Amino acid sequence: MTSKDESTGAAAPGSGSGEAKKLYVRSYGCQMNVYDSQRMVDALAPEGYVETTDMADADVVVLNTCHIREKAAEKVYSELGRVRATRRERAERGRETRIVVAGCVAQAEGGEILRRAPGVDLVVGPQGYHRLPRLLDEAARRPVVETEFPVESKFDALPAPRPEKVLARGVSAFLTVQEGCDKFCTFCVVPYTRGAETSRPVSAVLDEARRLAAAGVREITLLGQNVNAYHGEGPDGRDWTLGRLMRALAEIEGVARLRYTTSHPLDMEQELVEAHRDLAAMMPYLHLPVQSGSDRILAAMNRRHTRDAYRAVIDRVRAARPDIALSSDFIVGFPGETAADFEDTMRLLEEVGFASSFSFKYSPRPGTPAAELGAQVPEAVKTERLHALQALLARQQTAFNAATVGRTVDVLVERPGRHAGQVAGKSPYLQAVQIDEPGIAIGDIVPVTITRQGTNSLFGRLAGAGSERLSA
Ligand code: SAM
Ligand code: SF4
Repeated sequence: MTSKDESTGAAAPGSGSGEAKKLYVRSYGCQMNVYDSQRMVDALAPEGYVETTDMADADVVVLNTCHIREKAAEKVYSELGRVRATRRERAERGRETRIVVAGCVAQAEGGEILRRAPGVDLVVGPQGYHRLPRLLDEAARRPVVETEFPVESKFDALPAPRPEKVLARGVSAFLTVQEGCDKFCTFCVVPYTRGAETSRPVSAVLDEARRLAAAGVREITLLGQNVNAYHGEGPDGRDWTLGRLMRALAEIEGVARLRYTTSHPLDMEQELVEAHRDLAAMMPYLHLPVQSGSDRILAAMNRRHTRDAYRAVIDRVRAARPDIALSSDFIVGFPGETAADFEDTMRLLEEVGFASSFSFKYSPRPGTPAAELGAQVPEAVKTERLHALQALLARQQTAFNAATVGRTVDVLVERPGRHAGQVAGKSPYLQAVQIDEPGIAIGDIVPVTITRQGTNSLFGRLAGAGSERLSA
């Protein structure tokens, strides 16, 4: 999944009597946190809270945290220093501020956060967001830590946002269908912070997707820590696979594009591969993390697949959808990784060819098996390997984008462009595209001939005819 820190949306108009209470939510880490942040805003909307992008204006500040790497977790503590300074300034103006730490750091560190950052009012793990109104009331009296995995589902208890709020968030929306992970890769905290694998029932997913589409959303990205392990209960009483769910979603009027992330190679079942072949709404893009190209390291990571098995999955997917754009996550410097192991990873990159990817230095996480391994790789070696890997990935990304120039692709228009008279959107291959053409409506899907490649975007002009697929 992508790593991006952001605060959610823009301030909405106030509701209820008197001055509206203001809520500021900052999201760290993956798209699942972005989705959760939106759900927290929805949970507090009936209590009269409206969102603000200005922390100094907020009665409640929520940091929705990420624990995946040490750097991500430490960021939270430095941000808490700034939040407390803002609270002091507000107190001088006679305003109270509640500080909430949510997300995976909250789940992993619980009460330790209150010790390291006195002044935090509420620590709440990812499964407790539907209880936010009650927890904030309690936190007005004393600091509260809520890191249980409650029996009731937060999804059933979370209120749905108003249609205009949905559309204000964009024509491309996230929808969490699966949470948690049973894979226990030896480097990863997710099975501990997000708990065991669970899937939302098909009817709940379809209802939420219909609400999104009715509000004007055109593209839905299904989210899960292990999204392709989805096995939600269907209306027929049986567990549905992600492929089957995709077929039902593709029939919803208004849903033009479907994506999903993040997938595990072991769960790339045939029904999902066939959905890529059969459904026009399934975008030709697959984020399938491999982490390493060395069988020895893959085994030490407990990934439960080899490099050949990964390549066989890619071959199956490419046979079904030859133009599919591939992306992956890579970890360099896993304990015991030798220069030869790293070369295996570089060779795998060359063999597969990725359109984009995320890459990280291994970060030992307390409580995970790999953190206990003796042969930790020196920081300087990790840095050197990361640079080499990222240079190769950048060359592959540039080559992939260059291959789009001169072709015509469908672009979903998502927002005004950087300059007047431009609009910006995404190609089927998740490339950012700027279109030099005023007057195209947000939410339209238009054929665009790509004219040139910029640093972060492609540029194009409206094409007369329909689009064509890229060749593999
Ligand atoms: N479930 C997904 C999978 O199996 O690939 C990934 C979920 S994880 C939130 C996102 C990425 O963070 C992983 O794919 C991995 O590359 C990276 N990651 C996880 N733990 C890490 C660690 N301890 N050090 C460095 N990177 C890590
Ligand atoms: Fe973490 Fe592995 Fe589960 Fe992905 S599959 S969330 S990397 S334990």
